[in-house]
Amino acid sequence: MRSERGLLIVLSGPSGVGKGTVRKALFEQEDIHLNYSVSATTRKPREGEVNGVDYFFKTREEFEEMIQNNGLLEWAEFVGNYYGTPVEYVEQTLQQGKDVFLEIEVQGALQVKKAFPEGVFIFLAPPSLSELKSRIVGRGTETEEVIQNRLTIAKEEIDMMDAYDYVVENDEVALACERIKAIVTSEHCRRDRV
Ligand code: 5GP
Repeated sequence: MRSERGLLIVLSGPSGVGKGTVRKALFEQEDIHLNYSVSATTRKPREGEVNGVDYFFKTREEFEEMIQNNGLLEWAEFVGNYYGTPVEYVEQTLQQGKDVFLEIEVQGALQVKKAFPEGVFIFLAPPSLSELKSRIVGRGTETEEVIQNRLTIAKEEIDMMDAYDYVVENDEVALACERIKAIVTSEHCRRDRV
């Protein structure tokens, strides 16, 4: 028996750990039905990114207006840009009994935990810090200054691991996806009772 509201699943973890890659791989799988909440950001689009699919790309003024109108479930400033989760999509989708999936950084995840303590909070962990650095550098899209900032933040974020319900190691994308699917399945078994 399914409960009336869907599950709110929050995937978080340090920058460069591969949250985006794991999320995309998860959404390509047919045996799991999650609804991705597209975030708003003031970051410039990277090559190939599509407005409304990867992010809602906003100016700082537009983003600040969303904050003032209580349009965001959470938001954070990360390496000089705003990122936030539009609240309306999340609420409507959960009310329809569908699961919602957020992929956000750590400060935002902690805000969501306050608003939705019943959410399922998953920390995606790197196999090691040196592995994390080579992933951030290897992406090749960031300047040296941004890389250093992201690494400093990543070290602080790893310390937040204990606030999460689950820690999933991202040693291999396919394995990380399997672990997340197992978590979602067991959370449904745990909660969807009469
Ligand atoms: P990127 O610029 O690499 O796309 O994202 C930078 C960081 O922002 C990543 O850790 C990503 O998970 C996080 N992020 C993306 N959307 C949101 C959001 O809506 N809220 C918060 N707090 N972080 C987000």
